Amino acid sequence: MTHPFAELDTALTELRAAHLARRRVIVEGVAGAHYRVDGRSLLAFCSNDYLGLAQHPALIEAAREGAARHGVGAGASPLVSGHSAAHEALEAELAAFVGLPRALYFGSGYVANIGLIPALVGRGDAVFSDALNHACLIDGVRLSRAEPHIYPHGDLAALEAQLAASPGRRKLVVTDAVFSMDGDVAPLPEMLRLCERFNAWLMIDDAHGFGVLGPDGRGTAAHFGIDSPRLIYMATLGKAAGSAGAFVAADPTMVEWLLQRARSYIFATATPAMVAETLRASLRVIASEGWRRERLQALVARLRAGTVDLPWSHPESATAIQPLIIGANEAALAAMQGLRERGLWVPAIRPPTVPDGTARLRISLSAAHTEADVDRLVTALHEIA
Ligand SMILES: *Cc1c(COP(=O)(O)O)cnc(C)c1O
Repeated sequence: MTHPFAELDTALTELRAAHLARRRVIVEGVAGAHYRVDGRSLLAFCSNDYLGLAQHPALIEAAREGAARHGVGAGASPLVSGHSAAHEALEAELAAFVGLPRALYFGSGYVANIGLIPALVGRGDAVFSDALNHACLIDGVRLSRAEPHIYPHGDLAALEAQLAASPGRRKLVVTDAVFSMDGDVAPLPEMLRLCERFNAWLMIDDAHGFGVLGPDGRGTAAHFGIDSPRLIYMATLGKAAGSAGAFVAADPTMVEWLLQRARSYIFATATPAMVAETLRASLRVIASEGWRRERLQALVARLRAGTVDLPWSHPESATAIQPLIIGANEAALAAMQGLRERGLWVPAIRPPTVPDGTARLRISLSAAHTEADVDRLVTALHEIA
């Protein structure tokens, strides 16, 4: 008798042969940008902790106090008994921070997006999605059963043509605000104008802009100064905010609808109140420690100045995400390995996370890095190139 999982075993062997099998690394200790792995300290450029807040003493203290006051588990979903005063206060503070009327807090960005999109649109409706959108937006679109329209990355003429031709009852445009593997920013003001013209809603996923872009880190919508009742703003809180979770902020009617209809909100146990307290502390630090964003910008400029003569393309990106496109999967893995031998940790990102033939080193910078850290990376990149 063949093994019941023989087919999966074959598929795994094929993944390994194509250099597409992934492996988890066990991280033992994290201090700023330094991670201890296998007893060895590595200078890491692989985290989305863009402001260096995951280790911030004020957040750690808020978590400790939050655990002492509220315990470590919410016990039930928010609509039953899991919604605490800490969650309520966090939602009000998040809404005020991004300048929108009301916010709803979710356990993670993935969970938020697969709940939001199916609550917004369904059969007979149409969704318009950038080809490079994050996987959880894609999954949300699939779950919604609305008619999907995928437009080429950043191609507003294609989006316009799709909107004009669509017979969809409701129309929803969804986009990453900062694209997670390229670091470029979506043209939100132009997209909003198209949405106004075609009476569509605009949902933006600001996972990589919240805390980083805009005045006081208020995000990519604030960066562009856009404001509209048809804007549905979503951001995650496990990246620059340094903890965990996500939120959506929008018009109060829309948020009330999501509270009633987003299944991943309704049927999931609420996040522990201690996390909400941690995030409230994070919001205060994001607003008050502007030097973290200034340092990040200075490091981005320093890195870009140091990579101009490398043989790989370094697409335009003013954000913390700085990809070096290498091309072949194996070459990208070899580059990662070469850096690793020099005590540096930069992840190689391969398909299906990025399009075929665009395997890359995804360098992510953080306010936790120093100028000397970036110089060390630049030197190592020249050595392996
Ligand atoms: C990381 C990410 C998410 C998922 O957020 P989590 O809180 O990590 O689940 C969603 N959208 C984008 C664009 C992301 O980069």
